Amino acid sequence: MFKALLITKPESGYRCDLTEIDEAQLPASGDVTVAISYSTLNYKDGLAITGRSPVVRSFPMVPGIDFAGTVVESQHPRWKAGDQVVLNGCGVGETHWGGLAQKARVKGDWLVPLPAAYSAFDAMAIGTAGYTAMLCVQALQRHWEAHGMAAGSGEVLVTGANGGVGSVAVALLAALGHTVVASTGRPEEAEHLKALGASDVIARQTLSEPGKPLQKERWMGVVDSVGSHTLANACASSRYGGAVAACGLAQGMDLPASVAPFILRGVTLYGIDSVMAPMARRESAWSQLAAQLGSHTLQAFTREIGLAEAIDAGGAILAGQVRGRLVVDVNR
Ligand code: NDP
Repeated sequence: MFKALLITKPESGYRCDLTEIDEAQLPASGDVTVAISYSTLNYKDGLAITGRSPVVRSFPMVPGIDFAGTVVESQHPRWKAGDQVVLNGCGVGETHWGGLAQKARVKGDWLVPLPAAYSAFDAMAIGTAGYTAMLCVQALQRHWEAHGMAAGSGEVLVTGANGGVGSVAVALLAALGHTVVASTGRPEEAEHLKALGASDVIARQTLSEPGKPLQKERWMGVVDSVGSHTLANACASSRYGGAVAACGLAQGMDLPASVAPFILRGVTLYGIDSVMAPMARRESAWSQLAAQLGSHTLQAFTREIGLAEAIDAGGAILAGQVRGRLVVDVNR
């Protein structure tokens, strides 16, 4: 038996409970069994746990789109017992039992090796949120390189800066020598954002209301985890030839924008998906993370909780009440 969160959909509604599950019930479609050390709580896990959006597509479901742990059994040629592995996305926690549990059985093709620089805890302090922040930063880096835009030659905006994606993006961009402007609805956390590397902190409201199709040129790049008017305004205030990496919808799924920034200023909008990202992109993101973001920086925005606490934390993350990253110790 192993402990897990389990989402069910009884006639009375939608539930997420801490329960014990027989190992024989682990998904037969997996070919690698992992003893999980740590999982984490992302925005999407909050949606799954609360049922706020239809993230979970089959029931019963063990939520958790991320985990780090040790292979205990493998029929996959790439993995053997004892290997340290990390999983991000691939539909785990949505259509396939996930990481908010002590055990998981998944496809070996979905796993990446735990980078040598990281412990399982560190990898989950990064989690999907941090790995997505890295995918955003890498998309911007490729753009800047192709367009001859050097670090420090302009400001880079990070929206939802106190969230998981935002915190990691601020730290990564600052480490690369960029001038980072952090947008947040929590101005009381300004000092924390500056400690992560932000040069300036601006109020969320400056971007979240409907704005003009073209605004004063400011950003050479943007990492946006918020969507809606914020994303529209970020595009409208991007510099000529700038780039915006869009990965989230914390404000909304809509994009009430005009084509003006794209056709008059040559602004590029990159869509970032972490869930189905190809293996080469995943490995490249993890290797750059390991090279750039040390354990010490991770600790500055990470808090640890136990498995049972993840249920309430699911509501808190959707309410924008979680600062940085939550790591879940599935064994307590
Ligand atoms: P968090 O909840 O940790 O961060 C989201 C942040 O957005 C909050 O901390 C808050 O930052 C800001 N925010 C919240 N509500 C609003 C609002 N109404 N208007 C404006 N800003 C708001 O979530 P994550 O960092 O884990 O994820 C961020 C987004 O990215 C989510 O939408 C998630 O679904 C998406 N995502 C997408 C991925 C992909 O593959 N495309 C992968 C990972 C995440 P502050 O308090 O600083 O304002």
